[in-house]
Amino acid sequence: MTVKVYFVILNLVLLEYFMKQLINDLIQQGYLKSPRIINAFRKIKRVDFVPEELKGEADINAPLPIGYGQTISQPLTVAFMLELLEPKEGDKILDVGSGSGWQTALLAEIAGEKGKVYAVERIPELKIFGENNAKKYHFKNVKFILGNGSKGLEEESPFDKIIVAAAARGGIPEELKRQLKINGRLVIPVEGSIWLVVKEDENKFTEKEFPGFAFVPLVGE
Ligand code: SAH
Repeated sequence: MTVKVYFVILNLVLLEYFMKQLINDLIQQGYLKSPRIINAFRKIKRVDFVPEELKGEADINAPLPIGYGQTISQPLTVAFMLELLEPKEGDKILDVGSGSGWQTALLAEIAGEKGKVYAVERIPELKIFGENNAKKYHFKNVKFILGNGSKGLEEESPFDKIIVAAAARGGIPEELKRQLKINGRLVIPVEGSIWLVVKEDENKFTEKEFPGFAFVPLVGE
């Protein structure tokens, strides 16, 4: 019994150590840059968002299965997308494909009490999984919504920021661009690329492509 307790504690200490190591690596490699994103990565523990049997692997820089054919995103990809999104305190943010709830929690931490995060997930079990995982942090500024987020969330729009965790096909959805505020930012994978869209004016957008990523498909476009 005592040996088992020691083993569990040792595992937790090791996991904490390797997670710190992973975050430092992401900083050194230039993926993590902004203090508020780095602080959120340090505070919100990925281990709290993976299924029980994979807790020992939470510190690995790879996507991990969360059931229903979906994955918790790779830390490097989340870091890269959040740096493009530039979330700030007080932002109203739409998070499409909340899955494990990890990225949602990172966003809620950054947006703070004056901000709000709307997390949309289409798989009922995952909506509940992500919501329960995020509950460990007692956020008052997050709302998990079951539904198809491929056309955004009209009733809560416009948003300062929109981020999508599953890959669209056939281009960036116009609906999402429309639901941005002026100066709002959208980060979305389209096929194997991550795109950053900045809304300069009602009908003027700048778009930038970052190739070389893999995502689960955005369903029901
Ligand atoms: N950020 C999440 C990523 C999960 S993977 C995490 O790190 O855990 C992408 C998620 O998008 C999956 O849970 C999938 O079910 C969801 N998804 C795919 N298409 C969707 C859609 N049209 N609307 C809402 N969620 C969608």
